[in-house]
Amino acid sequence: MADQWTFQTKLLHNKHKFDVTTGAVSVPIQHASTFHQQGFDFSPKYDYSRSGNPTREALEEAIAELEGGVRGFAFASGMAAISTAFLLLSKGDHVLITEDVYGGTFRVVTEVLSRFGIEHTFVDMTNLHEVASNIRPNTKVIYIETPSNPLMKVTDISGIVKLAKANNCLTFVDNTFMTPALQRPLELGADVVLHSATKFLAGHSDVVAGLAVVKDEELGNRLYKLQNALGAVLGPQDCWLVLRGLKTLHVRLQQSQETAAKLAGCLLNHPAVEKVYYPGFDDHPGSSIQRYQAEGAGAVFSFQLKDGKAVEKLVSNLNIPVFAVSLGAVESILSYPAKMSHAAMPKEEREKRGITDGLLRLSVGLESFEDLKKDFLQALSKIEIETKTTSS
Ligand SMILES: *Cc1c(COP(=O)(O)O)cnc(C)c1O
Repeated sequence: MADQWTFQTKLLHNKHKFDVTTGAVSVPIQHASTFHQQGFDFSPKYDYSRSGNPTREALEEAIAELEGGVRGFAFASGMAAISTAFLLLSKGDHVLITEDVYGGTFRVVTEVLSRFGIEHTFVDMTNLHEVASNIRPNTKVIYIETPSNPLMKVTDISGIVKLAKANNCLTFVDNTFMTPALQRPLELGADVVLHSATKFLAGHSDVVAGLAVVKDEELGNRLYKLQNALGAVLGPQDCWLVLRGLKTLHVRLQQSQETAAKLAGCLLNHPAVEKVYYPGFDDHPGSSIQRYQAEGAGAVFSFQLKDGKAVEKLVSNLNIPVFAVSLGAVESILSYPAKMSHAAMPKEEREKRGITDGLLRLSVGLESFEDLKKDFLQALSKIEIETKTTSS
């Protein structure tokens, strides 16, 4: 029966809805680092918390079920999950990776994996011909993020999976922006789903965490071996915070998404705004793929001011959003990709990718749409006046 439940219900009613030993309706936080062994020949389920911990296991099982996978893994951060998954590769292997990948992933691929003989090529993943023509005999992974950060470009997951399968490569999808509430890449044929659980999954700006999910047992065994060998596991307290955040994922994301769509529409029509990047707009080049592969356009959009130099003034006049890195929280978060998420990317690489000095990214939280709208309109009107007075 649980198989037929919707995602919303599964978030609350799963294997861990109560603790079997006590009936507690919140997963117990098991802080123990080690576990008593009954005897010499007894092989316990848990022996040491790097290798396995009951609280972590609850989170790992929850995310595996929500993504439609067979096995989940919780890591100390999104980057720990991503880096560990990349170590499925060996010296001499090649990765095809999306050109507007998250800045931290860019850094791992270009500055760390490269030192171990793992090669990479950046491509525009929205162009399947370009992807196909860059696949080499040693390409082992195609790595995508969709919608991408911060320009919200949409990659056709099924199209990439077809190319990957035809060439014996794995498909890795960073699903941080969508979460399984909106998009489940494993169901579209992807092999590894990765998350910064720091964002929407935990959702309250109070924990740094990463998750990985696979749908193949053998791949799961290989990833488990790496998780245990490298040891970048998530602590039990933080696992519990992610589990708690997950319970409200659906309702948070629905609300934020609805507000994001309306607010993106307001900014689109504003004279001080040059461009708004949001895959929910019908004229967004990826809107039909987005509708096919996801159940919504999400709660994040980016916008470019006509006057790039007015960015600072706009930010200082806004009262509601926090000005910070990160996204996917209960409070709206405004960030400046050029100096924050993409600071690790050289300026010329950044500009080539369209991440200009006038671009801001907004992750919409749970504030009222009316309040957010008023706040943006008053702040934008101040930069408009400024622009007019300086040009006269
Ligand atoms: C934040 C983020 C990461 C990195 O996750 P951390 O939890 O900060 O290590 C990776 N990918 C995307 C898309 C992100 O937004």
